[in-house]
Amino acid sequence: MNLMPFFETAVVALNSNKSVELGDRTQYIGSSDVASCARKVYLQKTQPVTPSVSTLLKFSRGHAAEMLIENIFNAAGVAHLYETQVELEHPFYPLKAHVDFLFHADLDGTPELHVIEVKSVSAIPDEPYPQWVDQLSFQLGLLHLKNPKIKAGGSILAIDLNAGKVHQFNGFSYNDAVFNYLSCRALYLLDCLDEKDEARPSVSHTCSYCSYRTDCPALALPKVQLPSEIEALAGKYAELNSTKSSAEKEMKSIRQELMDFTGPAFKGCSDTVNLIVSSVASSQVVDAEQLLQQYPDIYSEVLKERAGYTKLECKPVKSVNA
Ligand code: SF4
Repeated sequence: MNLMPFFETAVVALNSNKSVELGDRTQYIGSSDVASCARKVYLQKTQPVTPSVSTLLKFSRGHAAEMLIENIFNAAGVAHLYETQVELEHPFYPLKAHVDFLFHADLDGTPELHVIEVKSVSAIPDEPYPQWVDQLSFQLGLLHLKNPKIKAGGSILAIDLNAGKVHQFNGFSYNDAVFNYLSCRALYLLDCLDEKDEARPSVSHTCSYCSYRTDCPALALPKVQLPSEIEALAGKYAELNSTKSSAEKEMKSIRQELMDFTGPAFKGCSDTVNLIVSSVASSQVVDAEQLLQQYPDIYSEVLKERAGYTKLECKPVKSVNA
């Protein structure tokens, strides 16, 4: 049974079923749009494309995370305290939010409103991404318009399914100034859709999943100003890389000391570590340089293309002392 062709169609169908819950997204600005890049939002609504299977699978991972959290809540007996996929709508403009979980009471039963936005990630960041915070703040704003007398709070639940880790970024609440700013941004997006304003790109970690990346002017070489969350990730990568280099140096000198002790063949153990040294027999390889010099015709016949790869370099910027 060859599942792959079937699978590729099925993943597309799964994601379309899921989007049905959100209605026709070309007709309104949603909370994730408000937090997103204007160029992407504009193109998604005016020139929609089906994302790649790999991107769709990442979206499905988000849905799977929501289902898992729901099952966990239900298993803990709090199903009566919340609703899922709650639609909130602005009274005057086509602005909406679909809240993952809306709790009507705290876990001890004290009445309150609490919005939970679930994010499935491959690594939990130290700080919530600004786009997550904007999305949640906009949801809290629409919730406040609907229930102005009830205090509304919110949190972001980041879940890393591979590592089995979950983290709650908690303590968000409705904020007038923030909601005003986000509402203006939502109206700007509506203007873009009406061709009254230019949908400008803004780079963020979500560019990784953007279907309109190839011709995006914001990512055109030679240089892109890094958004803060990507700067933090790249900084961490560079830091780990330098730890790796110094670890490799240290390992090299320890290796020599160990080999001085063991010789070329050895088996030893303690309560905490096994130490084994063995030899890998020599083998023969073609001397490419000699082949090229002595048999150039054969050399060109046996040449084959090596697949290219993407090289990632993160280096700390050296400060220049005047
Ligand atoms: S690549 Fe990034 S900046 Fe460009 S349109 Fe997509 S999300 Fe916006």
